[in-house]
Amino acid sequence: MTDTMRAAVLRGWNDLRVEEVEIPRPGPGEVMVRVLACGLCGTDVKMVEGAFEARGWPPSLPFVMGHEWSGEVAELGPDLEASPLRPGVRIVAENHVGCSACPMCRRGRYNLCERAGSPGYRLYGHTAPGALAEYAVRPAVMLHPIPDTISPLAGALVNQGALTVHAVRRVALEPGSTVAVFGPGLLGLLSTAVARAAGASRVIVIGRGPRLELAAAMGADATVDYERTEPAAGIKELTGGRGVDVVLDCTGNPDVPAQALGAVRRGGAIALLGLTGGKPAVLDIERVTLDEIDVLGIRSSPNAYPAMIALLETGAVDVEPLLTHVYDLDHVTDALEALRSRAAIRPIVTL
Ligand SMILES: [Zn+2]
Ligand SMILES: [Zn+2]
Repeated sequence: MTDTMRAAVLRGWNDLRVEEVEIPRPGPGEVMVRVLACGLCGTDVKMVEGAFEARGWPPSLPFVMGHEWSGEVAELGPDLEASPLRPGVRIVAENHVGCSACPMCRRGRYNLCERAGSPGYRLYGHTAPGALAEYAVRPAVMLHPIPDTISPLAGALVNQGALTVHAVRRVALEPGSTVAVFGPGLLGLLSTAVARAAGASRVIVIGRGPRLELAAAMGADATVDYERTEPAAGIKELTGGRGVDVVLDCTGNPDVPAQALGAVRRGGAIALLGLTGGKPAVLDIERVTLDEIDVLGIRSSPNAYPAMIALLETGAVDVEPLLTHVYDLDHVTDALEALRSRAAIRPIVTL
C-alpha cells in the first residue's frame, strides 16, 4: 500500500481541493476503513463557507471533510482480537464519540456528552478528520456492520436515517398514528419512510415543488403545498379538523414551529430536527401548556444505527428514489454545488 491517499481537503473558506494526503494509521481499538461512498449535507456547505468557524468546525485548516458515509474494513489496529470486525466487512460509522463516563453518556445519551468540546471528545467530520477520503480511521465502537445487500450509496444515508429513527422514538410514535412532516428534503423524506415503517397510518408532507412528488414515492399519502394552502389549515382539513398526532419539523425554518403547533392535536408531539441558524421562533406557550404538547429537540442518532440498518436490510425502507446524484471525488465541488442549488437532495461522492 502507498503512504498517501486522495482526499477532499478544505484549504481555506470556499477552497475545497482534492489532494494527496497521508493515510491515517489505526491506533489501539481503532479500525482503518476503505471509504466507498460519502454524502454531502448542508452542514458541509456551511463549513466550507466558514459559517461554523466560531463553533470550531473545523478546528483548523487544512481539514478533511465528510461525515455521512459507508465503507469496508481495511485493517484492524491493536487490541481488537474480540471484535467482530474483519477486513472486508462493510460498515457504516457514527460521528459522535462520547467520553463514556459523564452522566449523559452513562445513560446512553452520548449525543449529549457533557464533555463535548473537551480534549478527547471527537465529532468526526466536524472536529476530527472526515471521510471524503480513500481511507478513514475510527474507533471500532463507532462502526456498525452492514450486509452486502445494502449498497454503499444506501449505506451513506444511514447516518441521516438513524436521526429520523431517533426522532420517531423521541415522539413515541404509535401504530396507527397520523404524522405531518414539514420539509421534503432528505431528512423529511427519510422521516416519511421511517414513520410509515414504524406504523404511522397516514403521513402528510408539507413543502412545495417537485419534491412533493418524491414524498409520495417515499410513502406520503397526502401533501400540502404551502404556496397554495396555509399548512396548519391544510393539515386540519386532511384530519377532519382534529390535527395530527405527531409533527416532525425537518425545515430549520423558525416560522414552522408555530405552524406545527397549529397542526398538532391536543396531547400531541412535535419533534424539531432542524437548526434555525440561531434565529428564535415564537411559540404560543398557552397552547403548549394547556393542551400538553410535547416539543422535543432531536440531535444526532444515539443507539439508532442498528434500527436504520435493519429497516434498509428488510426493505421496510427503500432509499433508492433518493440516490439520484452520484459523483467521483474529482467532481466533489460539483457535488457541493448541486446541493447549494437544490438540484440534488443528497449528492453522494463515491471513492
Ligand atoms: Zn450531515
Ligand atoms: Zn460523556
